[in-house]
Order: sequence, then C-alpha cells, then structure tokens
Amino acid sequence: MAKQAVVIGLGRFGIGLAQELYHLGFDVLGIDKNEQVVRDLEGQLTTAVQGDATSESVLRELSIQDYDMAIVAIGADIQASIMSTLLLKNLGIAQVVARSNNPLHARTLERIGADKVINPEQDAGVRLAHALFNPDVQDYLSITSNYGISRFHPAERLIGLTLEEAGLSGTRDRYGITVLAIRRGREPILLPAKDEIIAKGDILFVAGRDDMLDKVRKGEPPPARNGAVTREGAATRTG
Ligand code: ATP
Repeated sequence: MAKQAVVIGLGRFGIGLAQELYHLGFDVLGIDKNEQVVRDLEGQLTTAVQGDATSESVLRELSIQDYDMAIVAIGADIQASIMSTLLLKNLGIAQVVARSNNPLHARTLERIGADKVINPEQDAGVRLAHALFNPDVQDYLSITSNYGISRFHPAERLIGLTLEEAGLSGTRDRYGITVLAIRRGREPILLPAKDEIIAKGDILFVAGRDDMLDKVRKGEPPPARNGAVTREGAATRTG
C-alpha cells in the first residue's frame, strides 16, 4: 500500500512538496483554507480539500490520524502553524514535519512535539550562497556551520586516480573527508571502495569540512600532516 501523507497549507512550498510526494507514489491529501487554491489543484493530488487545519473537528472528519506523515507547510501565519502542528501530534500522527519562519517559531514547534522542523527559505539561501561562491558545486547540504555535504564533478587532476591515490579514501585520509557516493551515468556507487577509479563525468557526493571540500573540488593538494602542503598531492596516475 502506498504511504500516506497530508500537506497542510498549499502555498508555493506546500504545492511543490505535495505534487512531488504524489509523483513519488504517496497518497497525498492537501488541505488549504482557501477554496480557490484547492480548486486550482484538482486532479493534481490524490485529494485536495478546503478546510481550516486549526480545527480539530475538521482534521478528525478527514481521518487525519490514519496518515503516516503530515507536513505543516503554512508559512506566514505562525499561530495557525503552531495550532495545527499541536493538533496533528495530539491526533497521533507518527511523523509531523513543520515549516518555521524564525528561530523562536522553530523552537516552539520543537517544544510542542514536531518531529522535524524545516526552514526552506533559509536552506535555499545557504545552498545558493555555496553555489554562487563555488560555481562548480551542483548542490550543498549544511551539516554544521563549517561542515557539509557537497556534490560536484571531480577536478581534472583527479581523473584516473583511485580514491586512495587522490587522498579521498576516508575521514582519516589526507583531506579528512568521506566520499559518500559516486554517480556514474545512471548508476550510484554507494560508499565506494578505496580502489575505485575516478572517471570523467562522475559526480562525487562528499562530506567534510567546507575548506577541505573546496580544496578537493578545485583539485588542490591536501595539507600535509604537519600543516605544510604535500608534493604527492599533485601526483598523477601513470599506470
Ligand atoms: P509560500 O511561501 O509557500 O507560498 P506563503 O508564506 O506565501 O507560502 P502562507 O501565508 O504561509 O503563504 O500560506 C500558505 C498556504 O497556507 C496558503 O495557501 C494559505 O491559504 C494556507 N493556510 C494558512 N492558514 C491555514 C489554515 N489555518 N488552514 C489551512 N490552510 C491554511
């Protein structure tokens, strides 16, 4: 049976999310208090209904408690976002994801039991900053303020080297980063072995400290263990 998700608040973010979940095979119930919004979505989700998600009776009538997951995608109306998050948790939905507007809103959502709190505008801003700062970076996901996961094509210098030769074979290796996956054509290679040879056209998914990710992406040699730059960092594979 398909997983069931309910998306509350069908603004730009809510619609994008609801439609993508629907395309991924979820049964999606979309709820919005605005009738026109719901009419415009006809046929694009499993079900879209007009209703106030801060009303417990509305949520009960829709048998919300039977859903696996709910996403509160209301943005501007903080009171409505908090009220519906609280109701969804009280109704017993296992996973409630709530969108926050600011840090205090985020903390409040966490306190009242949201399982995950997101701030899509802030996340998009962080990603865009990294993409603008490093035009070769295809995507970036922040882990902490100076660690993240980056997706990029390998520098020319690394092509033909094994991950080990390139200094990329684990967190104890020279850059102190981890190659999580390589996408080669349509195939993913998850947690690639250290003797995997980096090929042209590969896309690397790499986790580590931002400055080290930047070095790898640019093909710059890693720092030596004593802090100096190594000569072998510039080595190329001959055989
Ligand atoms: P976005 O950035 O996603 O476009 P927004 O910040 O512009 O969102 P919001 O005011 O957050 O717009 O509203 C998002 C949607 O949530 C709107 O379509 C609004 O009608 C709906 N909404 C707001 N409050 C409720 C509620 N209590 N019940 C159901 N839907 C609601």
